[in-house]
This record gives sequence, C-alpha cells and structure tokens, in this order.
Amino acid sequence: MTNRSSPHVVVIGGGPAGATASTLIAQQGYQVELFERERFPRYHIGESLIPETYWVLKRLGMLEKMKASQFIKKYSVQFVSPSGKHSAPFYFHDNKPHECSQTWQIRRSEFDVMMLKNAEEQGVAVHEGMRVLDVLFDEDRAVGVQVVDQSGTQKTIRADVIVDASGQSSLLINKFKLRVPDPDLNKGALWTYFEGAYRDQGKDEGATVVLSLRDKKGWFWYIPMQDDVMSIGVVANFDYLFKGRTNHELTFAEELENCPAVKERVMQGKQIRPVKATKDYTYRASQAAGDGWVLVGDAFGFLDPLYSSGVLLALKSGELAADAIVEGLQSGDTSRAQLGKWEAGYVEGMNRMRRLVCEYYDGFNFGEFIRRFPQHRGSITDLLIGDLFKQELDPVFDDIDSMKVTKATSE
Ligand SMILES: Cc1cc2nc3c(=O)[nH]c(=O)nc-3n(C[C@H](O)[C@H](O)[C@H](O)COP(=O)(O)OP(=O)(O)OC[C@H]3O[C@@H](n4cnc5c(N)ncnc54)[C@H](O)[C@@H]3O)c2cc1C
Repeated sequence: MTNRSSPHVVVIGGGPAGATASTLIAQQGYQVELFERERFPRYHIGESLIPETYWVLKRLGMLEKMKASQFIKKYSVQFVSPSGKHSAPFYFHDNKPHECSQTWQIRRSEFDVMMLKNAEEQGVAVHEGMRVLDVLFDEDRAVGVQVVDQSGTQKTIRADVIVDASGQSSLLINKFKLRVPDPDLNKGALWTYFEGAYRDQGKDEGATVVLSLRDKKGWFWYIPMQDDVMSIGVVANFDYLFKGRTNHELTFAEELENCPAVKERVMQGKQIRPVKATKDYTYRASQAAGDGWVLVGDAFGFLDPLYSSGVLLALKSGELAADAIVEGLQSGDTSRAQLGKWEAGYVEGMNRMRRLVCEYYDGFNFGEFIRRFPQHRGSITDLLIGDLFKQELDPVFDDIDSMKVTKATSE
C-alpha cells in the first residue's frame, strides 16, 4: 500500500481495545497512528483474563508472548457463598479440552506494554505522551483529531476513520452525551494489594475466587498475581460503599470483617498499597459508531467486573470494529452502518454477561442451579469463559427464570 501523508486510521488510547483494533487494521496494510496520553508502563486495574481472550490474542500474534510471560496461569473460577461455603471450581478445561481453556492473571502495566509493543512491531505508529484533545468533524463525519504533546505543542491529524479507545475517559461519549448508565448496576469498588496472602497450590493457584459478603451486600474478588501479590477488591452498591463512608481504608477493613473467608486468607499477608476506589460504573453508549468514527472497549461500554469480562470485551470489540473498518476501507464505505455493523451482535453477547451479573446480585446460586439443571453446566461455563456471542446459550436464562418462579411459589 502506498504511503499517504495522513493515516487511514487514528486510534485514541493504547489500552487493550486500542492496541487490538490498531494491530488488526495494520496487519491488513493500512496506516494506523495511535495516540496514548500516558507513557507506558502505567498502572491499570483489570487483571484477570477469561479464556475466550485466547482467540483474539492468537490473531494479534500475542500467544507465544503470553506463554513466555511470568503471568500466573488461571484454570478456573470458584465462588464462595455468604456462609463461607465453597463451590466446586469451574475448571474451564472440563468444558473445552483445548489449550484456550488456560488463561492468565496479568499485571496490567506489563500486559499493556506487551500489547502496545506488539502493535508497533506490526506497523502501528504509536505515540505515547500525546493526548487527543478533540475529534474533529466536517458536519456529521469525523475527519481527524487534535492532539497535544507533553510540551504543549498541538497538531491536527486527519484520517478516514477515528477509533475511540480512550477507556472510561470516553471522549466521544462525553462529546455527544451518549452515556446510558445502568441503574440496576449502580455499584462501586474498593481494592488494594497484599503480599504473602494465602494462595491455593497446584492447578488452583491461579484461580479467581469470588466471595460473597456475609450480609450479601456485595462481594470480594481474590486474584492471585505474580511475585506473591494478591489483588483484592470489594464491590457493592454505590451508596452502601461510599455514602457517609469517606475513609476508603476504613471501609475496606470493615468489609474484610464482613467477609471472614477473605479475612482469613489475608491475615498471613500484609497490605502493600493504599486502597483505590472507583465510582464510575456500568454504562453503555447509545451507539457504537457514526460516519467515520467508532467506539471500542470501555469507550463504548463498561460492565460490572464480577466475571472479569472487561479485557475480553475490549479485545472482542477491538477485533470486530477492526474487521468492519478494514472492510469499509476496502470498499470505500466508512459510514455509520458499515463501521457499526458488529454492534447488535456484540451487544447481545454483552447482555448475556450482564444478565448473569444481575442474577448473581439477585441471589443466584451456581451450585444449586447446576444440581437442578445439569444439562446447563456447559452453557454456564461458556458464559463464564466469555463465549458469549451465540444464541444457543439463551435457554439457560429460561431455566434460571423457572427456578425463580418455583422458589417464589414454594415460599
Ligand atoms: C474495579 C474494576 C475491576 C476490574 N477487573 C477486571 C478484571 O479482573 N478483568 C478484566 O478483564 N477487566 C476488569 N476490569 C475492566 C478493565 O479494566 C477494562 O474493561 C479494560 O481496561 C478496558 O480496556 P480499554 O482498552 O477499553 O480501556 P483502558 O484500558 O482504560 O485504556 C484506555 C487508554 O486510553 C488512554 N486515554 C484516555 N484518554 C485519552 C486521550 N484523550 N488521548 C489519548 N489517550 C487517552 C488512557 O491513558 C488509557 O491508557 C475492571 C474494572 C474495574 C473498574
């Protein structure tokens, strides 16, 4: 492909979504420029992958790098009830006996560097320390971006397509007021890191454990990472976690008391970072694309992290958008209809994961459900590994509903 003075595509943000979209477009020979406001490595939350990331990582040429990394291998997820009862682990391999069933607990600062370097190796022009100030429009069509470097120098870059992968900063969601919050999932999170905390051995060492609070008001994640570090966070209703509770360290300590199964695990370790908080929770944009622009990853939508779906959704939307962009560049059609072709199917998949999240908050018990409907074990595991984009999964939700009706009538 001949060199042009302006790129075909500009990508805003170098997180997993931006790195994915840019790499896959560059693989097809198009010129891509990516602008990242930070200099990597930078801290980011979002440390537990789920198995379906495998297929996108494969297309990106990242698998061998992941296999050679220090990241802890993850084979399963396990749930602990409010009374402290442990479910049997959901081993991903039982459902899909393939190497894709082993995934990783990642340190995001390292993973994001690997992804961005990989993009660069495949032809993406990566500019770190450059913030996109605005997306420029010619009537309704996006035609470029205004960027500023760390010395304050600004410039304009024109492109055929602009990919907004700016994460929760959501440049275009804010510009066009596209944010649709999800009132059923109005949550918040507090988290920190422990060194030397309890970890299982062998195959279970890398399992994510999801532990309900004793009073069922929320849950803890327990994610084993490399270097004997454990990522531990609590998620609960926004008001419960933050209203009248301004000292995050104190709230975190109080919630540890509210979850003896986590408290026991961390007692042998020591907290090594201050508690962090997020109040920016589940939302989605009312549209994923317009003429000349497209949203991917958290810049399109963010779903409660209960099942660790964020990076998968970033990779998946980055992949789907990249394919639509490449097709559009080939045919000379970069309209909203072309660039947003993938939106409906993607949202359906996201909704399946959302439904499972809501069921958990509604008291769904995985063990009880599988005992009643053993034929759904495979579909539940598919949902947990992120194999979301298929309608065959939907009968699970009919039986979840029927179990709720039976329960309600027997009470
Ligand atoms: C409490 C919590 C726990 C989570 N746990 C998990 C988990 O266990 N597993 C999981 O998979 N996901 C998890 N997530 C979700 C995960 O963090 C995100 O879904 C994921 O990082 C999205 O990737 P992204 O590329 O869309 O955005 P990001 O990773 O946020 O990347 C966006 C990038 O854009 C850059 N940027 C922003 N604005 C500009 C600008 N104007 N110009 C240039 N660059 C810009 C930012 O610096 C950033 O590097 C969790 C999230 C939260 C809040």
